[in-house]
Amino acid sequence: MNILVYSTRNFEKDYFIKANNNKHSITFIKDSLSIDTVYKAEGFDVVSLSPTDDASTLTIEKLKNSGVDYIVLRCAGYDNVNIKAAVKSTIKVANVPAYSPYAIAEFATSLLLAINRKLIISNERVSQYNFNIDELTGFDLNNKTIGIVGTGKIGAVMAKIMNGFGCNILGYDIEKNQCLIDTYNLQYVSLEELCVKSDIISLHVPLNQHTKYLIDNKLIKHMKKNVILINTSRGAVINTEDVINALENNNISALGMDVYENEEGIFFNDLSSNIPDDVMLKKLISMPNVILSSHQAFLTEEALTNIAETTLYNIKCWSENKETENLLTS
Ligand code: NAD
Repeated sequence: MNILVYSTRNFEKDYFIKANNNKHSITFIKDSLSIDTVYKAEGFDVVSLSPTDDASTLTIEKLKNSGVDYIVLRCAGYDNVNIKAAVKSTIKVANVPAYSPYAIAEFATSLLLAINRKLIISNERVSQYNFNIDELTGFDLNNKTIGIVGTGKIGAVMAKIMNGFGCNILGYDIEKNQCLIDTYNLQYVSLEELCVKSDIISLHVPLNQHTKYLIDNKLIKHMKKNVILINTSRGAVINTEDVINALENNNISALGMDVYENEEGIFFNDLSSNIPDDVMLKKLISMPNVILSSHQAFLTEEALTNIAETTLYNIKCWSENKETENLLTS
């Protein structure tokens, strides 16, 4: 197979070269897929995409016209690919459904600990030889209530970790996981009840038409004023403007976020000498009760190895005229 990898990042390239073991021909480019860059796929059988690539209807049609038969996603979420359009164009799409739920859940925990115990401010002070610890008070996680929104693969690991911290665990999901009820005493409740009772809320749902702006003013009104909100799912699961207002008005105490609704074209890039004119982002970066990372929750050696190996596995199946169980059909 002749494979074009869009949006290649330095950190992932070697994992792909190793997993490929010289079997297929791989071309790595830094450009993201869009209607403007789709012409680069001319002559390739497979394109490999990341969450920052845009495979909407017109782009998919152009990919097909360029001779592309397969799309392999180097991620689990596929909100950036119009699967219906791909099926219609007879382009097969496969993802990496689980590469390491631990990577993301552990990172969500890092955000929580860092924002709760004010580690960033503390480290900034210490680096200036200021060893004063005033205003760095956090709270014990032990005996607090965490609400996990989305108890799938990542949410389940989050429940395990939070159980280890001694938290009471509430869950909200359209499907219940009995194992979490039995093992961690997780209690499924409505989203409103979860908001009313939780000291910490961690989001682990995919972005779709039902979850877009799931966390908005209406729900924030139900939350405790000292709640810490953690989002490692997708940026648009929260209405960022509403959340910023709530942070400013002390209706939410702190926010840890690894994803941002307008992250496309911003995250993964060094823009230090070309600061984007994004009012919400600037506001978030300026707030002491916000910790923000640029979509790095997946960034562990184990996850990168699994992503590369599963992506090459999906291609191997198709090259041998077999179907991969990671095929996306809707
Ligand atoms: P998953 O499919 O295993 O779990 C998602 C859960 O959300 C499922 O249990 C599902 O029933 C539930 N859900 C779906 N729609 C819902 C709705 N409307 N209301 C309530 N619950 C709903 O997925 P996962 O592997 O746990 O990943 C979750 C999300 O995390 C991904 O979709 C992706 O967007 C995000 N993610 C982020 C990173 C990162 O680096 N920050 C990495 C991987 C995944």
